[in-house]
Amino acid sequence: MTGEKHDSVKTICPYCGVGCGIQVKQGDEPGDVQFMPWGDAPVNEGRICIKGGAATEVVDHEDRLTEPLIREDGEFREASWDECYEYVVSELERIHDDYGPDAMGFFGSSKTMNEENYLLQKIARRYGTNNVDNCTRMCHASTVWALRTSLGAGAMTNSMHDLREEADVFWIQGANPGEQHPIANSQYFRQAVLEGATVIQVDPHANKTTRSFQIDETDRHMHLQLEPGTDIPLLNVVLKTILEKHEANPDAGWIDEEFVEERTEGFEHLRGTLEDVDVEAAAEECGVPLEQIELAAETYAMADNAAIFTGMGMSQHRCGVDNVQNEINLALVTGNVGRPGTGVNPLRGQNNVQGTCDVGAMPNVLPGYQLVDDDEARKSVEDVWGFDVPPEPGLTNVEVSHEFGNSVRGLYVMGENPVMSEPDANRVAERIQDLEFVVVQDIFMTETAEYADVILPATTWAERAGTVTNTDRRVQRMRGVEKVHENTKHDLEILSEVGSRLFGPEGFDFDDPEDVFEELRQVCPIYHGMTYELLDETGLHWPCYEPGDEGDPFLYAEEFDTESGLGHIEGVSHTPPAETPDNEYPLILTTARLEEHYNTGTMSRRSPTLNRQRPENFVDVHPADAERYGIEDGDEVTLTSRRGEISVVAQVTDDIKEGVVWTTPHFAAASANRLTNDVLDERAKIPEYKAAAAEIEVGLES
Ligand code: SF4
Repeated sequence: MTGEKHDSVKTICPYCGVGCGIQVKQGDEPGDVQFMPWGDAPVNEGRICIKGGAATEVVDHEDRLTEPLIREDGEFREASWDECYEYVVSELERIHDDYGPDAMGFFGSSKTMNEENYLLQKIARRYGTNNVDNCTRMCHASTVWALRTSLGAGAMTNSMHDLREEADVFWIQGANPGEQHPIANSQYFRQAVLEGATVIQVDPHANKTTRSFQIDETDRHMHLQLEPGTDIPLLNVVLKTILEKHEANPDAGWIDEEFVEERTEGFEHLRGTLEDVDVEAAAEECGVPLEQIELAAETYAMADNAAIFTGMGMSQHRCGVDNVQNEINLALVTGNVGRPGTGVNPLRGQNNVQGTCDVGAMPNVLPGYQLVDDDEARKSVEDVWGFDVPPEPGLTNVEVSHEFGNSVRGLYVMGENPVMSEPDANRVAERIQDLEFVVVQDIFMTETAEYADVILPATTWAERAGTVTNTDRRVQRMRGVEKVHENTKHDLEILSEVGSRLFGPEGFDFDDPEDVFEELRQVCPIYHGMTYELLDETGLHWPCYEPGDEGDPFLYAEEFDTESGLGHIEGVSHTPPAETPDNEYPLILTTARLEEHYNTGTMSRRSPTLNRQRPENFVDVHPADAERYGIEDGDEVTLTSRRGEISVVAQVTDDIKEGVVWTTPHFAAASANRLTNDVLDERAKIPEYKAAAAEIEVGLES
């Protein structure tokens, strides 16, 4: 499977969701792989950020897992692949027999390919459970929910190219493309700004996005620095301003009446909800001057084309679905959807988080976002697969984690690190020990693999082939060079063997990724028009229903993909964070990622270039708080919440507001997730990473 040898291959950066093309050159020895630019790559045209340029550093890292391992008497010992497969299959069968299929959880990975995630979710469903999920649950599950329900597809409505060419206003809320999507920011958004577009940034933290648009230094751009968790009040002030101005002057164009009338439903609900909003009180709650919010509302509403970008600052709240719904409301009432340069655009974190959802590695949807509880959709997939799929949605990954040792007895993890990535991580590490069986496929000994019974060593991104889907729905091919370690296997190869041994070869024994993709397109209507040959080097945007379709760079030109064909407006009311400051924990902790690192840092902490830039965690503290606590810049401090404590270096800065502290999840011992709250959004089940009550003191943890 994918064993061809090439001198150099064109592939896709394994880090963020921008989907930059790079080349990997194969040296004389396996493991001697070098980065080369890909000058005419479709997304980045040869440009690259620090992470992409350093991505080959982990391929031949000394920490690579090179042999299969089995835990025996508390220690790992080397084992043959055959022994491991036998063990995995016998334990999965035992758990099925003893407790039923829903006693297993399957975690896919946004760091692996469409074909691999497709096969993992197929194994889960053939096993008899919909308990299959991926890390989108941690980042954009609420965004996907709101967009799918109110517009039709859980993805960017527009593409980076049309946004660069046509957008006049970028409304960036809870996203930080300057840090997290550097090439999208520099090559697309900043380009548009240089040609006249205006940026309105809504974020509790001044960051690289603020600085990249020089927001402090021009009158044109704005940073609305709100309190964490007050996005709904802020957008309600924006919406109420727009509605009132429109009523006062209906011809001024604040609202697109024709669009609202012909293409949306629910406007009256929004109007009713806003009646109760006291704009002065709401602005005060947000900590942003009312006039500034009103000016931002006017700038957005009066633009010819205004685009919203949304990120995890919006989605990672217990009201994440409502947060994104309010952005949809703003876009719909002003008619800013269905044209180039507009829309509601989630910037996706990992290089294949979009595709992992597209191919059905989620508990409520089959490939192509077909609902598992939709009888007709389920039957169409069952007809191709040849087995029945359970008709009820399964548990999400945090729900699975909450059930470790109770209803859930076993866990199959491909390329994920829940012990570090989930909120309240100390409890996850405790609970995972209550499981009877854990199997992990990965390239390194992750914090989760430490608790495994079987570890299956996989190949890295540079060694294997398949497809990934970037943030603007572009499906692109990855190609691999020679394997570095002989006894490692591609994730697809491992899944194919496990599936074949569990259920027989039919439907699980695939020759190569292209074979899997050919089956995927039969059950995933939005990918149906794609083949490896048609994807070629430029890729295709979904939806691409038939071979020859070009794919849609922007969605909803004529109608929305909802049951009524209308865009759904729905007023939402403020839900404060589950934890607010009190005497014991008087600060609000919020979290975000850094440009130089990548989620739990499994790869980026092992990259010398990236680690040199950011070797340890830190916490941003406002100067007034620093003075109150007696903290000097560079002091070691202990940051605590109701769930744990971490030792970090204080960075005293007015990037953050007084009363708020800000840190990151990348560093194992000092990860923000030892502190974060695992309360969930009721519908999307995404945790509230972005707001927790905290306390800080000078000195190290005891
Ligand atoms: Fe990779 Fe994202 Fe950087 Fe592009 S912007 S090189 S995809 S990390």
